[in-house]
Amino acid sequence: MTKPALTLYLAAPRGFCAGVDRAIKIVEMAIGKWGAPVYVRHEIVHNKFVVDSLREKGAVFVEELDECPDDRPVIFSAHGVPKSVPAAAEAREMIYVDATCPLVSKVHIEAQRHAEAGLQMIMIGHKGHPETIGTMGQLPEGEVLLVETAADVATVEVRDPDRLAYVTQTTLSVDDTKGIVAALEERFPNIIGPHKEDICYATTNRQEAVKSVAPKADALLVVGAPNSSNSRRLVEVGAKNGCDYAQLVQRAENIDWRALDGIRSVAITAGASAPELLVNEVIDAFRERYDVTVEVVETAVETVEFKVPRVLRQPA
Ligand code: SF4
Repeated sequence: MTKPALTLYLAAPRGFCAGVDRAIKIVEMAIGKWGAPVYVRHEIVHNKFVVDSLREKGAVFVEELDECPDDRPVIFSAHGVPKSVPAAAEAREMIYVDATCPLVSKVHIEAQRHAEAGLQMIMIGHKGHPETIGTMGQLPEGEVLLVETAADVATVEVRDPDRLAYVTQTTLSVDDTKGIVAALEERFPNIIGPHKEDICYATTNRQEAVKSVAPKADALLVVGAPNSSNSRRLVEVGAKNGCDYAQLVQRAENIDWRALDGIRSVAITAGASAPELLVNEVIDAFRERYDVTVEVVETAVETVEFKVPRVLRQPA
């Protein structure tokens, strides 16, 4: 039986960003240096496949530092941690390695500088997301006010409307965030924004790539995890940019083939914490059912790389 023809538009860039790549290397190198088990506070990156692979190599994932023994190394996830976490590890004289993405650390430093200058901080982010908890936890409790939507801006209560600054989570929707920033600037005309955009290059590039493939395709599949903020934003960006069927899939086995019945083209991308291996698995699943033509749609070339911390680097 002949297979129906299907065009796969492969968004580029997609998948792993420099911060995720570095965080995974940190765990692997820590296991190499100190042996198993190495404890990791929170999923190092939001992807079950990555977490399971590291678990097999000797990583033990926990949610809180209290769950780690004093005498084993612990690694903090790429999302960043409140200041109280490394402080507690130091108090217990634990070996710890901070795998916070340098672009998240940049936001932490920014928040601290503004606070030192006497400004009250507002954070645009998602309540309960580890990055938001980590960034808000750079300052004493109650010092950073959280807004999630433009509607929140109308009700936020500040100390002094002329002494404010804002930071954002790095993985937000670029377009939605513009609306929230506009609302902040309208209500607080003297509010100070980031020196350079807090939404990171990887989030921005993946959203731009989706904007360019979504209108061409009958469906968009985003390979990523349900708790991955940047992956979920890619689904929303696809839906807002002309793709009626935009879905998150963790693995090929999660594809709803019945929903795709009759389609002629599919756009595929992957969140910043999803390995390319899972994208290939999805492409192979399409090849089994369709006569596939792959078209790569590249909107940016990424060359960003982050060094692993000195304590784990091999001597030159
Ligand atoms: S998505 Fe951006 S901020 Fe998050 S780890 Fe990747 S590069 Fe860093």
